[in-house]
Amino acid sequence: MSTSVNVLIVGAGPTGLSLAYSLLLNGLSVRIIEKRVEFHSGERGAGITPRTLEIYKFLGLLPDVLKESFSFPSRTVYYHTAPDDGSPPKFIPLTDPVADSPDRPLGKTATNSSFELISLKEYGCSVELGTELQSFEEFPDHAIAKTIKTVDSEQVEETIKVDWLVGADGGRSIVRKQLGLEFVGKSHAEAEMITGDIHVKEGSILTQDQIRFWGYFSDDKKPAIMMRPCGVPEQNLFQFMLRGPGIDNAKVSSSREELVKVFYEITGREDIAFGDLVWMGVWTPNIRMVDNFAKGRVFVAGDAAHVHSPTGGQGMNSSIQDSFNLAWKLALVQKGLSPQSLLDSYSQERVPVIATMLEKTTELFNKEFRGSQQTGFRRGQEFGQLGVNYRGSPIILDERYPDNQMVDPYRAGEDGTVRGGDRAPDAPALVRLGKPAAAQQTSTSLFEIFKPMQHTALIFPGSTTDAFVTETLKTLCEYSSGTVRSVVLFSKSPSAKLSFDLADMTVVDSQGLAYTHYAIDKVAMVIIVRPDGYIGAVHQLFRVSCLINVIALRPPLLFSPRQNLEMSSVPSTYPGVPISSLAEIPPDIFRRAQIQWGSSQVPTPSEILEKMPPKEVLMKNLRPIFERHCEGCWQSNISSASDNGEWERLNFKKCSRTPSTAQEDCQKDHWPNHKPSCKKMEKSSSSLKLERIVQLFWAIRLLRGSLEVYAIIVYGILNLYKSQKGLRFALRIDIGLEPAEITTFMKMFHEQKTYGGKNTEPRPQGMFQINSITHSDEYTKESFSRLERARRGAPGAKRITVSEKEVNDDLTSKNGLPVVLLEFVWRGDVANSWTVVTSVSEEAMEVARKREPYTKISQIRGTFHVPFGPDSTIEFMNGVIRNDKKDMLGLRFPMRRTDIEIIRAAGRKDTDTENADAVKALLVKTKRDAIYSSFYVSVGKPS
Ligand SMILES: Cc1cc2nc3c(=O)[nH]c(=O)nc-3n(C[C@H](O)[C@H](O)[C@H](O)COP(=O)(O)OP(=O)(O)OC[C@H]3O[C@@H](n4cnc5c(N)ncnc54)[C@H](O)[C@@H]3O)c2cc1C
Repeated sequence: MSTSVNVLIVGAGPTGLSLAYSLLLNGLSVRIIEKRVEFHSGERGAGITPRTLEIYKFLGLLPDVLKESFSFPSRTVYYHTAPDDGSPPKFIPLTDPVADSPDRPLGKTATNSSFELISLKEYGCSVELGTELQSFEEFPDHAIAKTIKTVDSEQVEETIKVDWLVGADGGRSIVRKQLGLEFVGKSHAEAEMITGDIHVKEGSILTQDQIRFWGYFSDDKKPAIMMRPCGVPEQNLFQFMLRGPGIDNAKVSSSREELVKVFYEITGREDIAFGDLVWMGVWTPNIRMVDNFAKGRVFVAGDAAHVHSPTGGQGMNSSIQDSFNLAWKLALVQKGLSPQSLLDSYSQERVPVIATMLEKTTELFNKEFRGSQQTGFRRGQEFGQLGVNYRGSPIILDERYPDNQMVDPYRAGEDGTVRGGDRAPDAPALVRLGKPAAAQQTSTSLFEIFKPMQHTALIFPGSTTDAFVTETLKTLCEYSSGTVRSVVLFSKSPSAKLSFDLADMTVVDSQGLAYTHYAIDKVAMVIIVRPDGYIGAVHQLFRVSCLINVIALRPPLLFSPRQNLEMSSVPSTYPGVPISSLAEIPPDIFRRAQIQWGSSQVPTPSEILEKMPPKEVLMKNLRPIFERHCEGCWQSNISSASDNGEWERLNFKKCSRTPSTAQEDCQKDHWPNHKPSCKKMEKSSSSLKLERIVQLFWAIRLLRGSLEVYAIIVYGILNLYKSQKGLRFALRIDIGLEPAEITTFMKMFHEQKTYGGKNTEPRPQGMFQINSITHSDEYTKESFSRLERARRGAPGAKRITVSEKEVNDDLTSKNGLPVVLLEFVWRGDVANSWTVVTSVSEEAMEVARKREPYTKISQIRGTFHVPFGPDSTIEFMNGVIRNDKKDMLGLRFPMRRTDIEIIRAAGRKDTDTENADAVKALLVKTKRDAIYSSFYVSVGKPS
């Protein structure tokens, strides 16, 4: 069986390609198979709606798409008489023209089969052509797909294990059929037509500039031919549809010559000369949809879920929107950041939209095929899909309109309101606060800010005080970094010099467009925009619980590198190392990582480099990680991106005590304001109380129990137990500062500086967690006592809970159960350690015997299971410790001054300090984390 991949997409039409692209952007690993040996050569959806153009914009594909397409101010059908009687064509506009506006800057329809421009290469993925899905099986936590392809005239089968499978395999979807989803609706044989793409030679009426958009030759009762341009005008390529009484479809579609002959017979326009035929086929309109887009871990999207008449040009556009709706949800669930139930909303949101789309396109179809053709192509503005909405969806919340009922899923905004579930409008002329670097844009727009990989929190302070913004930003910091982007929007330049360090961006809405488009007056408001550009929530009073319910994200309580290794390929928030230096990381760090995380899959540096996406992509992803702003003028330390996406970091001056930065010019002005916060920080030092940590840790039965079970499994106690009562073994638990938290610490420091008022407790804190539990075969009976003797002699080493007698060489526990010696060591410092001896409880033996998975209960994810093992135990304990909000475990202490200095020195890579060893250790650990973070990036590419 092939190694597993997050998502297998079946079918490389517009649905599959756009889904693959969105998922890769979100950092998931993707394989996409296509049964054709070559891409479909013809048009599959010429008209790109304004909403699809917006999606292309968010995906970063718009410039390429526009380069290859052209737009109509108002799509127009030119009716010609047939046969031609010399009268001029009539012009029927498809829609009434609408001018672009600041909230909808891409209001015009473009034409192009642009999905072909979706290149997956830069993410190391490519469509596996000539590969067909044969069958699949769905299980609670994965799916198994069977594919077949021909290699050197041999049929090669492959079995692929996947987390999720998506059928984007078109109207005849095997995925849909195998899922047993009913395809409700019917076929319309009476409207069967021949369709295809053909070149028209220069010089005829069709290639004239004003006429070229559409040619239509018919009246109501006779055969009809419709021609519409595709691709760029210079190609003179047209898609044709030919139908009507008396046409022998099989014969006409058999050759180019037959087609051209019939064209001339119908139109009498022999002045129109044809070039090459690209493709042609007989097509029967089908109007059908499924009532559920998913079952378990398998989904259908695009034509696999709904087919319709081409009238209205909604098919490809709706398909891409299916993909865009599904991608971010799959990504969040796959990364463990949202409960699986989030995926239910894919069907819940798309079914009403598609049902409405079917109604609308069928109405046009009936007019076109059964009534007057001249009205059949005339369509309302809603076909631009800017009014498509998810009001009434279970994952949408709107505190302004608590009774936010579902409206026509195609017509949001017609009531003059903007609500949860609506498309988030654009707003240009947002001026960044501070002086951006010369080459950096001072002005931006919401559409520049929205990203398909994260939620965007638009914070409108209204007339409230800083406290609202500060609280909101703090709340947002609860979320895994990178999942929510915070943008504070002031209605006018604030008089006080504000610097919301926790915000990702602070702007002034210079023309008041954002405030107008989102209907904000003086009341403070937070609007959460989903990664697919829809309003997920409108909050008047921002509370974390609301956010959790609405966007279904969970705070990073159970985060650990191991978990990320498996689940995530997002650009990490870790302070990474430049990619070129990965190769320099000594192999023993990898080996240690393997031991520590029990994984045989940790890649070697060369494997990472091999799978690394191109440098531009990495640079793009790493940029936000390295970006800092001058505390004085807010200039970014990142030089502007060059054409190939490269950037450089400018050298800002750093405060020697805190991680505050300023560019040289600002340093003088800025430092006096900065000093008081530095001083306050120094006062906050307090010594680490390992003793208290151990005592409290030990008092928590849950943690103690998990350690015991861990020990039983790791030492194979269940096998040895019968023959060797009184077995002893040792675990050494390192408690340390988690380097992955450095960014969080940095933010804490900033918070202290900016917000630390009179009543604020000194904020910088150390967060301690169990970094590793080392077990070693060296811990034999002899080493056990040697270790213990050494400890007794070691200055500062302490033991608790045991008497001298209990640890002597003849030790047998009172109840005959195995005895464990646990060392709690503070950051590798044996002198600063505690030793605990305990006998394993019968209960722990019982749990270990059953090897039941951990059952975790999260208020957000609900109940879920994690297999028992060393890794999950560490993860579990870390989770409990991090979850401890009341300092019950005592694992959160104000940091010692030395800790702060160590972090700072590590930040400067300065090992020439009195704490050189600690700094080096931190650097090594930081690098290790960077390895994981780099690995995430490479997860997405099948080899
Ligand atoms: C003549 C015509 C004109 C149209 N014009 C428009 C328009 O102007 N605007 C618009 O929005 N829409 C238009 N559409 C509709 C649009 O083409 C479809 O809605 C769109 O192509 C659907 O995309 P898809 O990726 O879901 O399916 P498809 O494009 O059908 O792609 C599915 C892919 O899956 C592959 N596949 C199938 N089974 C398997 C398997 N077992 N294993 C591997 N691969 C498999 C197929 O080979 C195919 O490449 C038009 C359709 C037609 C026929």
